[in-house]
Amino acid sequence: MGSLQLKSVRKSFGPVDVLKGIDLDVKDGEFVIFVGPSGCGKSTLLRIIAGLEDATSGSILIDGAEVSAVPPAKRGIAMVFQSYALYPHLSVKDNMGLGLKQAGAPKAEIEARTKKASAMLSLEKYLDRRPAELSGGQRQRVAIGRAIVREPKLFLFDEPLSNLDAALRVNTRLEIARLHRDLKATMIYVTHDQVEAMTLADKIVVLDGGVIQQVGSPMELYNRPANLFVAGFIGSPA
Ligand code: ADP
Ligand code: MG
Repeated sequence: MGSLQLKSVRKSFGPVDVLKGIDLDVKDGEFVIFVGPSGCGKSTLLRIIAGLEDATSGSILIDGAEVSAVPPAKRGIAMVFQSYALYPHLSVKDNMGLGLKQAGAPKAEIEARTKKASAMLSLEKYLDRRPAELSGGQRQRVAIGRAIVREPKLFLFDEPLSNLDAALRVNTRLEIARLHRDLKATMIYVTHDQVEAMTLADKIVVLDGGVIQQVGSPMELYNRPANLFVAGFIGSPA
């Protein structure tokens, strides 16, 4: 429940080859971090996994089944963006429940799942507020809550903490680590923050030049960085 395989995934925008053949195996329950220089295609790859963008070629398998023709809402995936992407006119509760409502879930179930997610994220007191009445950290927790209520097998995070100040980044990172333990879901997480990568990852995937340069545990990358980008990112002495 929540494994992912990418096979020769390619993506071109016009003449520009952004992804040049990505092969990757993510096991159920793994926490996988994508790192790489700005513009190397990290967000594009997440969007392809989520179904928000089509690959030019290649296959994407979730729990062994090809999903390239499966619409985003049916992939069992929830994505959390850097920009929160909340609806300003909806309350916290309605922002969190909207996906379920659109999927036709019964009202009682939406209530129950929203309540559970808000408790996990200490948002119970804010359920009737609008996004504008929340801090940045609270908004991002609502965006995470909106992902949780859908009970996805796979969470995708695209630099979720980069708009938060340092103290909130630490808090929210610890919260995401706890969620990963509690939910036992698979998580794929893009960051350019070395501490986030080293502390959250079971496995780090380094993208550059349209291909995967290295895959390994934080310690493997630290001890044996494949190139200068990896060494610089991880801070190892190579
Ligand atoms: P990253 O998230 O690693 O910073 P992106 O995946 O956002 O990189 O972008 C990778 C490359 O693809 C960039 O050169 C970007 O300009 C280009 N790109 C992304 N989306 C589009 C699009 N919809 N149309 C054209 N080019 C795009
Ligand atoms: Mg990006």
